[in-house]
Amino acid sequence: MAMDVVIREVGLRDGLQSLPTVVTTDRKRTWIREAVGAGVREIEVGSFVPAKLLPQMADTGDVLGFAKTLPGLFASVLVPNLRGAEAALASSADLMILPLSASHAHNLANLRKTPDDVVAELGRIRAARDASGRKTLIEGGVGTAFGCTLQGRVEPAEVLRLMQALLDAGADRVSLADTTGYADPAAVSRLFEQVMKLAGDRFWCGHFHDTRGLALANVLAALQVGVRRFDASLAGIGGCPHAPGASGNVATEDLAFMLQAMGCETGIDLDALLGLRARVASWLVGEPTHGALWRAGLPKGFASAVPAA
Ligand code: ZN
Repeated sequence: MAMDVVIREVGLRDGLQSLPTVVTTDRKRTWIREAVGAGVREIEVGSFVPAKLLPQMADTGDVLGFAKTLPGLFASVLVPNLRGAEAALASSADLMILPLSASHAHNLANLRKTPDDVVAELGRIRAARDASGRKTLIEGGVGTAFGCTLQGRVEPAEVLRLMQALLDAGADRVSLADTTGYADPAAVSRLFEQVMKLAGDRFWCGHFHDTRGLALANVLAALQVGVRRFDASLAGIGGCPHAPGASGNVATEDLAFMLQAMGCETGIDLDALLGLRARVASWLVGEPTHGALWRAGLPKGFASAVPAA
């Protein structure tokens, strides 16, 4: 399976936003600098949400400003609405992600909007981006695509309808997320095959949580139907405030290991990444961290870094 696969680090956003510990701006800078040093090329650095809602993300402007000074790094940021998008445009983010929940109940609880309100907001963000002259890409991320802790079942037809609506409203890229860890590899194959057909080369990223231990299996299923970019968080941090002890995103280091063991090119140096993982875990005393590679280490003779072509 020799192919290039991109891992987008989302620990600084999806990971940190659900932890009570507030990581300092200096440490976030260290995380980003060392991740880039380890070969990570895409990082979601934060979220432009009101600081009173998520104090962990209050320094997103500063962190994004720092990320933009690192050559070769593609820096993305989450924006919940037009106001957040304006901040992302002002900071010249490379990409901004507008999340939408395919679950109406989840969308109303999280954003106090219906999914179709979010589609309309994406249209306004597209108009603002085009008027600004910035090159910031707009990604529409469809979450709770495989089920929802509030609503239960989410219909695949509704996921596809909303993804098409985001594309029609002007999303440059679209993504699919198993926010709740409800997916299994067979469901992933079925749904991702359809979204890849629908979005073509505007399909961007697969996002899997390891809540029930299936994140790597789900990545593999998505890889097999052509997905080439995945979100992951270092040490698998994140979890869900409503499911105590639950794992977060697939662990970056475990995902990079699996892909490299399969012969995929990620550009990541695993020894360097494990060093960074230990450092980040040391900042999160008392918080659960996840993953397997950090305990076991690399297999004897395993090349830590794929040699540059
Ligand atoms: Zn997530």
